[in-house]
Amino acid sequence: MARRDILILPDKRLRQVSEPIKKIDTGIRKLVEDMFETMYDAPGIGLAAIQVGTPKRVVTMDLAKKDEPKQPQVFVNPEILWSSEEKATYEEGCLSIPEFYDDVERPAQVKVKYLDLEGEPHEIEANGLFATCLQHEIDHLNGVLFIDHLSKLKRDRVVKKFAKAAKRAAE
Ligand SMILES: [Zn+2]
Repeated sequence: MARRDILILPDKRLRQVSEPIKKIDTGIRKLVEDMFETMYDAPGIGLAAIQVGTPKRVVTMDLAKKDEPKQPQVFVNPEILWSSEEKATYEEGCLSIPEFYDDVERPAQVKVKYLDLEGEPHEIEANGLFATCLQHEIDHLNGVLFIDHLSKLKRDRVVKKFAKAAKRAAE
């Protein structure tokens, strides 16, 4: 396993739409292993492949609390089938937008279909943090970031701040 570098705002690759995975081969398994290592090392609770620069539709997640055993979950080609009218608000963060957090309102429940690493199809209903996290990560696969759900004013401010930091780092 190898930790990979996480793309940081305003890296344009974060805006790419990821491709569906046609075949779960050793390359995909290796990618998923690396994503877990990168996610646990960060540490974070969810990661989309595009965040390590690979535009494939796969997400890793682990919502276990610190004192609980690990609960690694993989979602290949996840797709939202249904979202509730009811909304829920969570304070979100993103490994690609470090140290910035804000409240985002999203559907409280979603129904999602996906494949596991064996290529078996699954359908789940999620709510609470799980539902929010799934929506956040599936957004990544479509080139959408959680700051896109904030007001334009807030979003512009964050993007500007990160663009400045990236410029400074490049100098
Ligand atoms: Zn994110």
